[in-house]
Amino acid sequence: MPDPAYLSRRRLLQRLALGTPLAALGVRAALAAELPLLAADSAAAKALKYVEDAQQAKDASPGSSCANCGLYAGAAGSARGPCQLFAGQDVLAAGWCSAWAPQL
Ligand code: SF4
Repeated sequence: MPDPAYLSRRRLLQRLALGTPLAALGVRAALAAELPLLAADSAAAKALKYVEDAQQAKDASPGSSCANCGLYAGAAGSARGPCQLFAGQDVLAAGWCSAWAPQL
């Protein structure tokens, strides 16, 4: 008869082996979830001259937008995504603000 402690360890390892991929899927799903969109008329957005359309920004360098900003954390090709400056909120990939920095 097998040692009950061995069975317990074995069961634990089986559950970890099954649970790890499921946990990773859960994390990926959470990361993919959209955050509330930054309101362009909010005080934080206005402080950095954020606009939803980079072409409307007077100070933006041609071709610069959130999509190619080093602080943008959205997936490549996404229409919106998180910005490191506006925690807990998404910005539009087509947007721009005065903190724009090139990707390294
Ligand atoms: S820091 Fe970059 S990604 Fe964030 S709002 Fe400004 S331009 Fe967009």
